[in-house]
Amino acid sequence: MPDVLVAGAGPTGLLAAFELERAGLDVLVLDRDTRPTTQSKALGLQPRSVEVLADRGLLAAIEPYTEARLPGGHFSGIHIDYTDLPTPFPYQLGVEQVHVAAAIEARLRTPVLRDAAVTAVAQDDDGVTVTAGGREHRAGWLVAADGGHSTVRTLLGAAFPGRSARISLVVADLTLTRKPAGFADEWRLPTKSAGFLLPLSGGRHRLVVVGEEQQRLGRDEPVTAGELQRALTALHGPGFEVGEVLWASRFGDASRQLERYRHGRVLFAGDAAHIHLPVGGQGLNLGLQDAVNLGWKLAAHVRGHAPAGLLDSYHDERHPVAARVLVSTRAQAVLGVPDPDAVAVREIVTGLIAVPEARRAVAAEISGIGVTYPGISGRTTGIPVAEDGRAVLIGAELPPEWADRVETRPGAEPRLVRPDGYVVWDGGPGLEDALSTWFGEPAITLV
Ligand SMILES: Cc1cc2nc3c(=O)[nH]c(=O)nc-3n(C[C@H](O)[C@H](O)[C@H](O)COP(=O)(O)OP(=O)(O)OC[C@H]3O[C@@H](n4cnc5c(N)ncnc54)[C@H](O)[C@@H]3O)c2cc1C
Repeated sequence: MPDVLVAGAGPTGLLAAFELERAGLDVLVLDRDTRPTTQSKALGLQPRSVEVLADRGLLAAIEPYTEARLPGGHFSGIHIDYTDLPTPFPYQLGVEQVHVAAAIEARLRTPVLRDAAVTAVAQDDDGVTVTAGGREHRAGWLVAADGGHSTVRTLLGAAFPGRSARISLVVADLTLTRKPAGFADEWRLPTKSAGFLLPLSGGRHRLVVVGEEQQRLGRDEPVTAGELQRALTALHGPGFEVGEVLWASRFGDASRQLERYRHGRVLFAGDAAHIHLPVGGQGLNLGLQDAVNLGWKLAAHVRGHAPAGLLDSYHDERHPVAARVLVSTRAQAVLGVPDPDAVAVREIVTGLIAVPEARRAVAAEISGIGVTYPGISGRTTGIPVAEDGRAVLIGAELPPEWADRVETRPGAEPRLVRPDGYVVWDGGPGLEDALSTWFGEPAITLV
């Protein structure tokens, strides 16, 4: 019997499984689909996610698929420069989500069980029973990372307050049989709130549009080549000819977040816990960071050495971060409305963002570099995580009874680093306190 079941082999579920396995747990990932999806919703990795993947040795497998390194992000199409962010990765990595998921999946010890849609969940004092693909699976815990339409969320009747979609957008991957001469066919940050067109590998293009026609058509209406042709012409003018439509889907700006990320033995992460307009490219990044925050805490809890409240600190730390992203994406949606008053607000916001301090604050937020939690004095990057999921103590002596939870390394700058890269002690008194606050009672050494 595995220690933990994970529902959903999207980037969030896969990274949560990777973290749990790294910490020595047995994990089984269940996914509804019969094979990994070939359709990438997200095309961008924000700097904090690049740091997280690099520190886990996962970035090297993703980099060959990189389409672009964008020197910034955007706030409703208003450019936000990242080049002075305090990170070795002051850029957005343009890469299709499928390559991020594949790189993580390739490093799992236990293969993902596919064709295993979760249809029932029951929990008791000792564990969780999950019915998936018609079979029952039992484990101590369930991580629900089954996406924005989460079945687990519905089965548990978990409160998911917020509001429904007000606008409708279309995303499509397509080929172009004609482009206007002089059209700069390259990756640029979006500058229009009405949509964007980006070249992808293999002669494909990504088109995202939010036009008047999309607002008129129902959410279940099929997306046709004609609709895409009209939208592209409206966005970029004449001279484009849409060829083959490889994938197209409608999505909206619904904005909701679970009231509680933990429901007994079920912990929610990624889109299963929060949904919002994907403007500014933050959803995938939220999910990846949920996964690394949850992984080590759940592993410590399962192994019996988590201090009181550690597992619940997953909700306490991550809920406010996603709540803030929901605020940000709602504000960005308003700035994109083609209404003279919204245009006036946009002009003011564009001016404010040009002030360096304001720009740095927005950059820190959208890039994820500014994410912090109570009691944290900073984050690290460039320090590979411990292979076995332990915390890392740099430049200080470790009392021997902590060796099962903390790896020591030499270094001039003393730091105690949580397994998710956040610093909980940075020299001076208080090391023992920090150890017991985050890593529980020390192991008893018998003499
Ligand atoms: C058009 C679009 C563009 C986007 N662009 C960006 C971007 O540029 N940057 C960014 O950061 N984010 C972007 N996002 C958001 C990003 O794609 C999501 O936040 C991300 O996919 C969330 O990952 P996840 O693993 O939580 O969920 P998902 O990727 O949705 O994965 C959920 C998994 O659960 C599985 N599943 C579903 N139901 C069940 C079930 N009952 N049982 C078992 N398995 C199940 C699914 O098969 C899937 O594999 C975009 C979203 C959209 C729609």
